[in-house]
Amino acid sequence: MITDSKYDVAILGGGLAGLTLARQLLQKQPDMRVAVVEKRAFPVSETTHKVGESTVEIGAHYFGEELQLKKHLTDDQLPKFGLRFFFKDAWQTLAEGTEVGGSEFFSAPSYQVDRGRLENYLQLTNTDLGAEIIDQARVRQVVIDSSEGGTKDTNHQITFERDGVPRTIESRWIVDASGRASFIKRKLKLEEDLGHDINAVWFRIDANLQIDGWCDDQDWQQLTGKVPRRWLSTNHLMGEGYWVWLIPLATGSTSVGIVADPRIHPLPTINTFEKAMAWLEIHEPECWECLQPNVDKMQDFLAIKKMSRGSRQVFSADRWGLVGEAAAFLDPFYSPGSDFIAIGNTMVGRLIEEDLAGRPIEHLAPTLQSVFLTLFQNNLITYRDQYPLFGNPRIMALKFVWDYAVYWGFPALLYFNGKLTEVGFIQSLSRGIEEIRDMNLKMQTFFRSWYEADPHVDAGAAFVDQSEIELMTRLNAELRDKVDDETLKKRFAANVELIRDLMFEITERVRRLQPTVESDIPSQSASTNRLCGVFEALEI
Ligand SMILES: Cc1cc2nc3c(=O)[nH]c(=O)nc-3n(C[C@H](O)[C@H](O)[C@H](O)COP(=O)(O)OP(=O)(O)OC[C@H]3O[C@@H](n4cnc5c(N)ncnc54)[C@H](O)[C@@H]3O)c2cc1C
Repeated sequence: MITDSKYDVAILGGGLAGLTLARQLLQKQPDMRVAVVEKRAFPVSETTHKVGESTVEIGAHYFGEELQLKKHLTDDQLPKFGLRFFFKDAWQTLAEGTEVGGSEFFSAPSYQVDRGRLENYLQLTNTDLGAEIIDQARVRQVVIDSSEGGTKDTNHQITFERDGVPRTIESRWIVDASGRASFIKRKLKLEEDLGHDINAVWFRIDANLQIDGWCDDQDWQQLTGKVPRRWLSTNHLMGEGYWVWLIPLATGSTSVGIVADPRIHPLPTINTFEKAMAWLEIHEPECWECLQPNVDKMQDFLAIKKMSRGSRQVFSADRWGLVGEAAAFLDPFYSPGSDFIAIGNTMVGRLIEEDLAGRPIEHLAPTLQSVFLTLFQNNLITYRDQYPLFGNPRIMALKFVWDYAVYWGFPALLYFNGKLTEVGFIQSLSRGIEEIRDMNLKMQTFFRSWYEADPHVDAGAAFVDQSEIELMTRLNAELRDKVDDETLKKRFAANVELIRDLMFEITERVRRLQPTVESDIPSQSASTNRLCGVFEALEI
């Protein structure tokens, strides 16, 4: 039943971004009038509802702490044993190849999420919080009122169709959370080509596929403890131009996906279940073997072409915003989707709060947008043109340390401390942020040059235990301390130094092995040797 026709905020799309935004807004301001217009009917199906099951620290913190969903996540979803990566040739066992991952859980938690289960929970609890969830309603038209022409009281208009009947509601704010439909982005022609052309196919199997059982080497099995628990990781089976994901779901199913650079693995080679299986038999035979007896338990199959997408604008002082995939999506490799939902929702929430309190947002909207797009672009270079490197264990094991250090040391640190929407605070860090951006650009180029100089490396038997890399465990653990502004500034400055040192340590060591790697990073010794164990394990 629709009880009203005027709202403070109308959210287009009741998926993960839209439902979490409604919860966030109502938890802060219970009297806010919030409508969510969703084309599907609730409750949605579990297991096969949507892809996007693995969370990392920012998204997990947003869901667990900011939105107070911890009980749901711990009782009804699965804990995640970090990201884990395997490199090996087809003839090798897992114990004979290179594995990169933790032997312990990192301090800051993350979760494997059954999307249907979470969205159903959010729909029910949002209704209790006072949101108007209008399901089975397809948005057909949106009229955006421009504040230049309108007055403070003029509203945007949203027309949707429900049971074949059109209906129009008005709202001061519109937030587009319609996922890939990207209603407003299309309407305002804001699409941006990111130059990152990656495809994916995925399916769910009604069986708990445990990677721990793929190799019976006792020593290998116990590297992560006596109880098998690698299966709780987001497991990445790595190869040149691709990675395969294995994600366990609380419903007992396993999500399996192949993500590939079409220049190396064209989509037509994997875009049906039969073709995906044939491809797995060649490239990841152990995975294929494990799936083979379970093929009749296949629950769904989907393919997506060119999944990365950007937007020239995401927030407007004209009281609209884009969140979730309706705004932008990078690449699922490090599971950043929920992170950008967290960041976008937090920013748009701040804009709504300021505006409803009668404060101007003409400067705040473009400033927050610039922070959002900078984070997005900085993250994009982590993936763009890097898929050819994905089969090289040496380069990737060091790239993981680098990418995690940049992620935990900068955006995650600021997000956990509630600072990504504090413009003055962010501006006070601008020199350090600019330096990290510049170093990241150079390092991603360095990894590519290294690959060009030495593309193919056999994966030797090695376990790069990230729990033994002090800088990683510390940066992760520090996320959990809430600190005052001065301490945070010092911590950030220390992280910039650490990242700079890491850059010198990696590049110096690699140059010893491969003097022909081209780079504009100056030759300089690091002040501390933090990665000796990793270099040794990888024979660098
Ligand atoms: C291959 C792949 C793997 C991914 N893996 C991960 C991962 O492991 N972790 C992660 O965090 N993220 C991942 N993502 C990203 C993930 O999909 C997003 O983080 C998340 O699903 C986006 O949520 P959303 O709410 O923006 O979109 P959605 O969940 O798609 O929600 C959009 C909603 O809008 C509704 N809608 C659309 N059009 C209309 C309309 N006209 N009227 C009314 N309603 C409408 C839809 O029905 C839908 O419910 C992955 C993405 C891809 C492509």
